[in-house]
Amino acid sequence: MSQPIAPASRSLSRRLFLGAAGTSFVAAATAPVWAQGSSSSDGTTGEPPVDVPEQPAARPMPQMEVEPPIEPERRVGFCVVGLGQFALNQIIPSFGESRMSKLVALVSGDRQKAETVAEQYGVSTDAIYGYDNFDDIAKNDEIDVVYIILPNALHAEFTIRAAQAGKHVMCEKPMAVSAEECERMIAACEEANRKLMIAYRAQYEPYNLEAIRMIRDGDLGELRSLDNVAARPIDLENPADEWRVDQDLAGGGSLMDIGIYALNGARYLTGEEPVEVSATISNPEGDQRFHDVEDIVAWRMRFPSGVIANCLTGYSFSGNRFSVYGSEASLTLEPATDYYKHSLRVMTEEEQTEPQIPEKNQFALEMDHLAEAVLNDTPVKTPGEEGLQDVRLMLKIYEAAESGGVVPIDWSYERAVPAEQGPDGQQ
Ligand code: NAD
Repeated sequence: MSQPIAPASRSLSRRLFLGAAGTSFVAAATAPVWAQGSSSSDGTTGEPPVDVPEQPAARPMPQMEVEPPIEPERRVGFCVVGLGQFALNQIIPSFGESRMSKLVALVSGDRQKAETVAEQYGVSTDAIYGYDNFDDIAKNDEIDVVYIILPNALHAEFTIRAAQAGKHVMCEKPMAVSAEECERMIAACEEANRKLMIAYRAQYEPYNLEAIRMIRDGDLGELRSLDNVAARPIDLENPADEWRVDQDLAGGGSLMDIGIYALNGARYLTGEEPVEVSATISNPEGDQRFHDVEDIVAWRMRFPSGVIANCLTGYSFSGNRFSVYGSEASLTLEPATDYYKHSLRVMTEEEQTEPQIPEKNQFALEMDHLAEAVLNDTPVKTPGEEGLQDVRLMLKIYEAAESGGVVPIDWSYERAVPAEQGPDGQQ
């Protein structure tokens, strides 16, 4: 970790100054007697006087907050729909780190796979459903929330059916493949008086929340520009990538799948909504992967404050970085939206710091956010409207690429819960 030297922004300076004061106090109290000037200078220790050089401030490590889980019988019951790679490798194991959520049911087209998973995670075989008898979940009172982890084009159908079965819904990103589908999903959940949350895990992840907090506190000065990259190479040997290159199931290519992180990130980091967009799409010639969906999308968004965001996504290279430039300092999150590892670098003209924040399981945090909202009947931070906003903007990005011009955003959207709100409801 690099050491801070001379911070430029006011609040950054204040925090580091407090850090420096804390460090020297601890040093005086705990340093061995021979290292303390006053006692060594009188010759009582037998050691020569030591001139301790002034140490640069160490940023204090935030305390790890470990809140105990609530009683199992009070935890909110989740039914996971779709036992694909993301569900099996990330979401289902994360119930073990959640405080308020528990896995109680599974939906899969493969009964044998579902039974294996059920046995491993202690789910009753009576709580295994297929896509055909999915609607029977209505009879299972253990299920409070249905978590949809299916190919994008199936999100709308299963969200609507889940709401009609009387269940709250957590739906993976992108929310759906058209704005009209998103609107129907929101309407179905409203009609059933159930919550709808889009699984924007990065909005619950501690490094991203710290970046948002720094920006809102003015640590970077006035925000000027962002440079967001979210890309990964697609691999047709991987079964999970097969539907991703099928326009009918995916709704689009890299933009819908991974580029959405750069888009959503630009919105939650600025706390603003774009007013215009321009874009370029490029597909490598002869690459079989991109006969139906796009590879590279570069787009630029202008925000009401004048901030410009340059965003890049693609399916033929790797990139996972958000850089935010302010008038006094800049920050880079890299990786910005990894599953388990993040890093944050804050830079001024003279110095660079790397705040260390305890990593927490963002999947458990987002599930617990919805669980808490269900238990207390509070609003979720990333509701259907947040997913609809991204889908509408992605469609504008495609439109801008097609037209080659600058496309105005002709609607307004305001967050009900600010992006800076932590997963536990704290700002
Ligand atoms: P996957 O292919 O591994 O899983 C999809 C599951 O849906 C499989 O179990 C498959 O059998 C099932 N399925 C049901 N009907 C299907 C049909 N008609 N065609 C194909 N599959 C069908 O994919 P995945 O990577 O787990 O992605 C699933 C969803 O999760 C997607 O919406 C994706 O965007 C999202 N996702 C989110 C993250 C994240 O970080 N939030 C990461 C990966 C995936």
